[in-house]
Amino acid sequence: MLFRSLVAAAALLTAAPVVAQDGAQRALPVVVIPGPSEGQLIRGAASVFAGKTNEERRDALVRLLRVYGLDPAVQTFEGGNSRTGPMAGSNVVVTLGDGPRDIVLTAHYDAVKLRDGSMSQGIVDNAGSVVAMIEAMKALKGQPTSHRLIFVLTDQEELGLIGAKAWLDAHDKSRIHAVINADVAAYGRTVMYGENNGAQSGFVLTALRSQCAEQGVNCVAFPVYPPSDDRVFSVAGVPVVSLGTQDAVGAHQMWLAFNGGEDNGLKEGFVPPVFQRIHSPEDKLSYLNGEDVARFGRFIADLTLRLDRAAP
Ligand SMILES: [Zn+2]
Repeated sequence: MLFRSLVAAAALLTAAPVVAQDGAQRALPVVVIPGPSEGQLIRGAASVFAGKTNEERRDALVRLLRVYGLDPAVQTFEGGNSRTGPMAGSNVVVTLGDGPRDIVLTAHYDAVKLRDGSMSQGIVDNAGSVVAMIEAMKALKGQPTSHRLIFVLTDQEELGLIGAKAWLDAHDKSRIHAVINADVAAYGRTVMYGENNGAQSGFVLTALRSQCAEQGVNCVAFPVYPPSDDRVFSVAGVPVVSLGTQDAVGAHQMWLAFNGGEDNGLKEGFVPPVFQRIHSPEDKLSYLNGEDVARFGRFIADLTLRLDRAAP
């Protein structure tokens, strides 16, 4: 924002003539301050999550949303699991538009606590998806939709999808038209999605596949896709898809690891790179590609508009 203001100020200075002491009007010298690229802005947004506790991540998220003119509501719940004991959590919710039914977009903002007790920086898992969701909010704000759009940035996903459960428990699920979840999305232009969210999710997959084809996006269908907040919705019979991004090689290695069976061709003991990064001290900002995250955010916004028109 600061850089943009400087550019605007520079433009004003350029436009405004000044009256010199001799009475002649002279233009001020032109000062051109190059603004940051979209990718740099995205990376800056993601950097606010690094090296923080989950409470600090929540507060940073609320501040970030306000910077973009969005109006977040913090919804606290009683969470925790058998390991942590009772532990309060907070979902951060942004609602756009209105309508008789809802399209819900979820991404968890919490990071995992590592075995040594320190916090993961939680960039690939899952600040990248959160920032992509913010990009989607920016693209969708003010767009006419026939559904209310509810972005639920969840807490305690890493403790067992607890924030998503708390949100759904407090919500009338019959209002939900469809849910888009994003988890593990900080780099790469290959979109991965799960096909294992129940028959009720079929129309969501149809809309997604049409979009992938029309936009020429490489989308990889996973018969088995790792669980995230999406499971809370599919277990409740709600239509949902879970998305992530990676480079093409990483996406296919992950496909083979989850779906290739014993003869998947991967070397003995091979762990797809993304699984070496997340839930480790390696989940760092250096892996985040701002352009890729921005592109994924627009992809999510487009899918939302497509689902807005799609009948189950
Ligand atoms: Zn995650």
